[in-house]
Amino acid sequence: MSYENSLEFAQKMDEQDELKAYRNKFYMPQVNGKDCIYFTGNSLGLQPVSTKDYLQTELDDWAKWGVEGHFHATNPWFAYHEQFAEPVSRIVGALPKEVVVMNNLTVNLNLLLVSFYRPTPDRYKIVCEAKAFPSDQYALEMQVKCAGYNPGEAIIEVAPRAGEYTIRQEDITAAIEQAGDELALVMIGGVNYFTGQVFDMKAITEAAHRVGANCGFDLAHAAGNIRLNLHDWNVDFACWCSYKYLNSGPGGVSGVFIHERHCNNTELPRFAGWWGHEKESRFLMEKGFKPMKSAEAWQMSNAPVLTMAAHKASIDLFDEVGMDKLLKKQKELSGYLEFIIDDINEKHLDQSTGKWLHNITPRSWNERGCQVSIIAEGFGRPLFDVLLQEGVISDWREPNVIRMAPVPLYNSFTDIYKFGKVLTKAIQTS
Ligand SMILES: *Cc1c(COP(=O)(O)O)cnc(C)c1O
Repeated sequence: MSYENSLEFAQKMDEQDELKAYRNKFYMPQVNGKDCIYFTGNSLGLQPVSTKDYLQTELDDWAKWGVEGHFHATNPWFAYHEQFAEPVSRIVGALPKEVVVMNNLTVNLNLLLVSFYRPTPDRYKIVCEAKAFPSDQYALEMQVKCAGYNPGEAIIEVAPRAGEYTIRQEDITAAIEQAGDELALVMIGGVNYFTGQVFDMKAITEAAHRVGANCGFDLAHAAGNIRLNLHDWNVDFACWCSYKYLNSGPGGVSGVFIHERHCNNTELPRFAGWWGHEKESRFLMEKGFKPMKSAEAWQMSNAPVLTMAAHKASIDLFDEVGMDKLLKKQKELSGYLEFIIDDINEKHLDQSTGKWLHNITPRSWNERGCQVSIIAEGFGRPLFDVLLQEGVISDWREPNVIRMAPVPLYNSFTDIYKFGKVLTKAIQTS
């Protein structure tokens, strides 16, 4: 694709965009009375206009039916979560029975670790990425401690090499092979939240299985962002949140994937509650847990219908569009952002002065999704303050990293063109 840094080019791209109608299906936050340029769909996705109606339906049914709504509501609450199996499985590349929506992300990660991190004195190690999202680090640390092992010894972190920002696949494979038959688990974020690097989940899973370890992924930055084929890649388990790329609202419900071969294993240890018990006999309220033969077996509680209604509003939009169209536009959109940053470097900055925009996100399309992360070398907080004053909502990490994620459902090429103008002004004034 050949890009141009001009308003005419951006507008032409927007006119040709087959998803252009979707921007108006979301509320755009305002800064100083004007629509902002929203690049934080990787942190909290925007609210679909339809969400209110989905919530209102459940509130009305609750008012109208009371407890009878479990069976008589428009979307009976007893089976509310079942509506997600098909559409969510299409987003993550799974069989419907391998997917369930429940709880919140870190809760689910812990529940999955209970089943898939079963350390023994000979095999207790975990390979993970260095500087993983803190919640994931804490979950691993405490799971290791709860099992009676020492996190300092058990957890092997794979880091980027000196002077590099992303982690090399060969280094992950080497760490797995080196841990060998002491390795119980590989657990990595499918997309690194800081650099936007996408890991080769198929290769990682194969390497883990070769040494007899389980392999799971936190897909918080991957679900709804990149192509996933969890079933075919043979991943053991995965979980993700719904409030980032999946636009389901702050603290929204989380999704879980458990490979079919584990769903069918009723002997697998797990934490349990009544909603994971066989559906047919659940209300006999008898002694003895009989797990369902699907990811639903990991459910403990009945469905939180109000947060799930917000999830449904968004998942219906995803299902209407489909991942193919989203991924096509995503590549063009993030590619344009990358181009604009290169163009600003070329025209307005000089790397030899130490002031430049250092893109640390991989350039290859197999290794990235929407997100582009730059280090504003030689700049500091004042740069970010100008961006915000001018209506750009992006994510700033001290001392000088800016993360931006234009998303195909509601960002436009014009957003990116305008952002380039603002960024140019910001580097010249800060
Ligand atoms: C966003 C994110 C979380 C947040 O966890 P919650 O339980 O939803 O608060 C955890 N892990 C990763 C990798 C994330 O990106």
